[in-house]
Amino acid sequence: MTYVGRLAPSPTGRIHLGVARTSLLAWLDARARGGRLLLRIEDIDRTRCREEWAVGLVEDLRWLGLDWDAGPDRPGPEGPFHQSERISRYREALGHLEAMQRIYPCTCSRKEIAAAASAPHGPADEGPRYPETCRDSPRPKPGRRPAMRVKTMPGDVIAHRDRRVGDLGQDVHETVGDFVVQRVDSHWAYQLAVTVDDAQQGVTTVVRGEDLAGSTARQLLLRRLLYPDLPALETLHVPLLRDPSGARMAKRTGGYTVAEQRATGVPPEEMVGALASSVGLVAGGVARRPIELLESWVAADYGSHLSDLTPGA
Ligand code: GLU
Repeated sequence: MTYVGRLAPSPTGRIHLGVARTSLLAWLDARARGGRLLLRIEDIDRTRCREEWAVGLVEDLRWLGLDWDAGPDRPGPEGPFHQSERISRYREALGHLEAMQRIYPCTCSRKEIAAAASAPHGPADEGPRYPETCRDSPRPKPGRRPAMRVKTMPGDVIAHRDRRVGDLGQDVHETVGDFVVQRVDSHWAYQLAVTVDDAQQGVTTVVRGEDLAGSTARQLLLRRLLYPDLPALETLHVPLLRDPSGARMAKRTGGYTVAEQRATGVPPEEMVGALASSVGLVAGGVARRPIELLESWVAADYGSHLSDLTPGA
């Protein structure tokens, strides 16, 4: 099977060094395995994303020395490459789930869900396991567009091994419960958009930050429901870069965007060398072009032996 990977940044600000490092590692994996690499702009959250940041991230990734075979600036059969231009595909997928009677409208507020005392805690991003209040009896609320939830069933069990973090198997019904695929007021949920895009763009391997490891089983469940004939998806969840205080790097953390670092005069090879040394691919203080790291990537068993050398790890 031909390797197809993707870079999938969200343009919610200028990219920080964490996004740069994850992109570098995804690039290394695709190139070391002779794969095809796509750049997909994950801009479905229209309130947080801006096109100027999408333009900025293309510029920053290119400055680092990364390239891709198809993306917003390079046509390819997998396009369009902005999620905001792929909405009809998400709507169609929702239609399929509806035809399978696997979704239902939900008008619960976050507060109502949190207040359901018996709810065991699911993964942090979903909040407590949804108590299924709207599952059998819809409760329309005037003036409020419902969210849509996937109806999970006993047997919605996913077995999956990540190349670096290992077992990501999960009983989705037990652990997460019915999760949202379309948010209130028609915003598309990340889980659905990513599943549809990875499937339709022929992605075989997902390399991304380990903060998203907990989403994998939900995405694989959606993939099984919507695209039962597709081969299994391979994943590599890589460590998250932390700032010097040990906190997870976020767009709010000032001073750590690629653009800000560039402005101080750091050459790209130095930044790439520092990013690579922060996961143990090379010794500290060396300058490298991405292409000069391919051997180290193979030696690190294609990323399954990365070290997490950032502070606080
Ligand atoms: N767009 C997500 C992010 O920037 C990545 C999604 C993914 O790789 O699945 O964190």
